[in-house]
Amino acid sequence: MNEECIFCKFAKGDENNIWENDFFFSFYDSYPVTPGHALIVPKKHIIDISSLEKSEWLELQNGIKEVISILEKTDFEEVYQKMIDNSISDLSVWFCKKALDNPRINTKPDAYNHGVNDGRSAGRTVDHLHWHIIPRYEGDMEDPRGGVRYVIPEMGNYKIPRN
Ligand SMILES: [Zn+2]
Repeated sequence: MNEECIFCKFAKGDENNIWENDFFFSFYDSYPVTPGHALIVPKKHIIDISSLEKSEWLELQNGIKEVISILEKTDFEEVYQKMIDNSISDLSVWFCKKALDNPRINTKPDAYNHGVNDGRSAGRTVDHLHWHIIPRYEGDMEDPRGGVRYVIPEMGNYKIPRN
């Protein structure tokens, strides 16, 4: 437990948590990339993915399956309206409104991106390990080829010809 850490605070129990087991818990990101963007977070203050024990990896795998099955049954109009009503920031409201504008908001996702920003240079902003599950909906971007390669946008789609 790190007193300064927002995820350690959520780990103690938060009304926004959607799932938990002995080692991990989950909640919807307040700045969703797409409707249903969820985070799975260890209850103890682990920073890097390489610090996970083998048994914790297994628990994380179970968590991924269980969180996906929960989010596929969730009414996201309700989730994001609630986030707007209890907003943590104007920026969060902007992201939640974008999610609400998605015409596919309450359809089952077509695909998922999974990812960890494992270090500050990789884009991590909260120094407590968190696994992103980002549902994808057909047509949510014009050409999704490359997926997580878009961490460096111009390197994303390796099928585009270059000179
Ligand atoms: Zn923490």
